[in-house]
Amino acid sequence: MSSETDTKAMNDMTEAPVGSEGGIRRVAPEVPFTDVMNGDSRWEIPVHDHGFVALVDSMPRLVPEGQTADSAIVQAARVSYGAGTKKVNEDRGLIRYLLRHRHTTPLEMVEFKFHIAMPIFVARQWIRHRTANVNEYSARYSIMPDRFYRPSIENVRKQSTSNRQGGDEPIEVGTAEEFLKLLEDSEALYTRYLDLTEKGVAREIARAALPVSVFTEWYWKCDLHNILHFLSLRMDKHAQIEIRDYANAMYDLIKGIVPITCEAFEDYRLNAMHLTSLEIEAIRKGQPLDSTNKREIAEWEAKRADLGLD
Ligand SMILES: Cc1cc2nc3c(=O)[nH]c(=O)nc-3n(C[C@H](O)[C@H](O)[C@H](O)COP(=O)(O)OP(=O)(O)OC[C@H]3O[C@@H](n4cnc5c(N)ncnc54)[C@H](O)[C@@H]3O)c2cc1C
Repeated sequence: MSSETDTKAMNDMTEAPVGSEGGIRRVAPEVPFTDVMNGDSRWEIPVHDHGFVALVDSMPRLVPEGQTADSAIVQAARVSYGAGTKKVNEDRGLIRYLLRHRHTTPLEMVEFKFHIAMPIFVARQWIRHRTANVNEYSARYSIMPDRFYRPSIENVRKQSTSNRQGGDEPIEVGTAEEFLKLLEDSEALYTRYLDLTEKGVAREIARAALPVSVFTEWYWKCDLHNILHFLSLRMDKHAQIEIRDYANAMYDLIKGIVPITCEAFEDYRLNAMHLTSLEIEAIRKGQPLDSTNKREIAEWEAKRADLGLD
């Protein structure tokens, strides 16, 4: 921001209607504020049979009428004061610049708080994202509710031979049914868990008998920069489909609140591609990748296919 605009911002500040109370100078907004969640207490998307992602709060929650929560990013980036000093298209350009150049701290000015219910095996992947504030349901204090994750039969996947971590294709029906029966049997442990807690076994130790398909819940608060990092990893096709379902629901909840940032996120992160120097060299020279590493070559082939270079 130029020193000229700086001075204007300062003047605007002193000219704005001012009240004074207990030494606090109160400045009225230039335009009325509007609630980014339309006055609702919660926006919830069901995931799987018993899960959900619910947006329960947003910072900013109130934004100048006609604007979105993207405005908090622009405000921080310009370290400006007040609303509406720039046109919307200039704000969009600034946010897109920030994302392209990984100037990320202004994105940390926006935060979202979620209430989430998910199976424990999903929670274990999720908790690896260390920058969020988390408060989880305590199975020491409380009985775990009788809720278990069961995939649909098409979603009982066959172990991939190329990717040790995954499986995309459904396994044949007979084996899938056998697996679903195993899950049913493990869920039957729940009644014994309940019985034994009623006989006095401490909840903290009794829970050890429950499978990782049982649901847990937490409140999860995170800033937008780290949410986008989480989403870029967990909406990606390499993430396990179950956590991807939750990540997609989370994205659907925030997209309308920070639409300009999400558009830039899709353009520069989610649907973008990182090229290694070997890959750039291969394109430049029109030659195969200068590597003997099978996995690296396979990754390059996948990128070539995405780029339509085959
Ligand atoms: C497809 C996939 C497969 C995976 N497979 C495995 C696996 O097999 N085994 C396994 O253990 N994990 C696995 N993970 C988890 C992965 O290694 C990361 O722990 C997880 O994705 C969180 O990423 P992060 O650390 O970048 O995120 P966050 O914890 O949210 O951190 C965000 C960023 O903050 C910074 N940061 C946070 N904490 C620190 C710190 N202590 N020191 C320095 N910088 C920090 C880093 O820049 C980091 O990128 C997998 C993840 C994915 C997406």
